[in-house]
Amino acid sequence: MTYTPTIYCSRNNCATLATIEYSAGTVDTELRRAVACDRHRSIVRRWTSRAGTVTATPVDQPLLGQLVLFPIPEVP
Ligand SMILES: [Zn+2]
Repeated sequence: MTYTPTIYCSRNNCATLATIEYSAGTVDTELRRAVACDRHRSIVRRWTSRAGTVTATPVDQPLLGQLVLFPIPEVP
């Protein structure tokens, strides 16, 4: 199991955990990808959609146990 950093909403000054990732476009034209919390879903989706058809992917947040201050180190 690898350590996954917590993902926050990409909206300015928003400190809420992201729940969804939107992406649209291609590398050849324009690629837009952004994560959003429940509150900023619509505005982030609109921004992403300017590059093309939007694909929405749920954000995989780390399990609650990994959010503690002293995570158990991985033993190789
Ligand atoms: Zn937000």
